[in-house]
Amino acid sequence: MKELPYKLQAIIVTKRPEHLFERLHAHLLDHDVAARLSGGSLFVDLPAVSGMLRLMDGSIEVDIAAADLESLYFAKVWLQDAVAEERASETIRIVWSEDCLQRHLPPSFSVLTVDDIVDITPRMRRIRFRTADARSFDTLDDMHLRILFNFQEFADEHASQGSRQGSSPSDVSPIWRAYTVRFVEPENHIIAVDFVLHSAEGPGSRWAARARRGDVVGAAGPSGGGCGDAAWYLLAGDETALPAISRILESLDERATATVVIEVTGPTDKISFTSQAAVETRWLYRDDHGGDRRGLARAISSMKFPDASRKRFVWIASESETANAVRATLRDRGLTKEEQVVAAYWHRT
Ligand SMILES: Cc1cc2nc3c(=O)[nH]c(=O)nc-3n(C[C@H](O)[C@H](O)[C@H](O)COP(=O)(O)OP(=O)(O)OC[C@H]3O[C@@H](n4cnc5c(N)ncnc54)[C@H](O)[C@@H]3O)c2cc1C
Repeated sequence: MKELPYKLQAIIVTKRPEHLFERLHAHLLDHDVAARLSGGSLFVDLPAVSGMLRLMDGSIEVDIAAADLESLYFAKVWLQDAVAEERASETIRIVWSEDCLQRHLPPSFSVLTVDDIVDITPRMRRIRFRTADARSFDTLDDMHLRILFNFQEFADEHASQGSRQGSSPSDVSPIWRAYTVRFVEPENHIIAVDFVLHSAEGPGSRWAARARRGDVVGAAGPSGGGCGDAAWYLLAGDETALPAISRILESLDERATATVVIEVTGPTDKISFTSQAAVETRWLYRDDHGGDRRGLARAISSMKFPDASRKRFVWIASESETANAVRATLRDRGLTKEEQVVAAYWHRT
């Protein structure tokens, strides 16, 4: 493991440690995190986080090290969420060591208050949030944020604990989801997020569907990177990629060329883009193919790419299976790591 300053340990107690170990490995791969298996341990090495899961008799030992408290916080949230998904089928307990995360919220935490709500398509809702420091989100290098949907529960719990000495850490599990900052109005203290109102309804889409002016959520970020610099772009994805693709297109100048391929349910999900670049857009409708969700991967595998003499960049975000299929296509076409971002934005369960 890399030597990083912030550390955290845990023991996961379960009747079937081998099974959970395999499931956690699968979760990592689903999230496109390369994990190395060696001598009964799983090693993860990311730029800001390094981790080890060791299979023991009746438990799994976990070591996490991070470059900063924010990365440590979200590594902990990731493990809690991955274990929670498995908990439905059996009893699993995580025992955390005395850790340096005394805080229940990440260092970049801020509060967002709903200012305005507009439906931009039947399945896409734009929410403008008022926040004390919108300026910090005004960067294309990190286009994303995380939203804490049950922030009110945290606030209520802390209020009821008051300022009692030695109050115990929160029992409320935080519900974080990642979103894209669609635009920022720093002078008005506003950031906007476009929420897909998907029919499977998780906490994020449920919250967005019921949001009212004045409602509050928590936020962390900005995070998550941006798009590379190129002369030719392929920007592609499903509904969840639309906010980022819109933002990237708005940032391109007239020297750039962009091919945009989007897969949505039907024509009512179409939005318009603004860009100075020469943009060619192709909309794919699942409804035209009986709900078939492989259209995007197929469209990309049949595309012609300019050769490497032209500075090119591919930015794609979609459901995880599609993202995996697209990664394989880009590998076959010889695109380098520096020429692409392919992100799994959500996982079908
Ligand atoms: C960096 C990043 C940026 C993102 N930006 C945006 C954004 O700007 N706008 C946006 O709407 N989403 C965005 N997403 C995707 C969003 O985080 C996921 O869709 C997330 O799962 C939604 O959380 P939830 O609580 O609604 O559903 P979850 O609790 O995560 O899942 C509940 C159920 O819904 C299904 N599900 C989840 N998402 C979808 C979906 N999009 N379509 C169909 N079924 C789904 C799951 O398979 C599961 O069955 C982004 C993701 C990442 C990683």
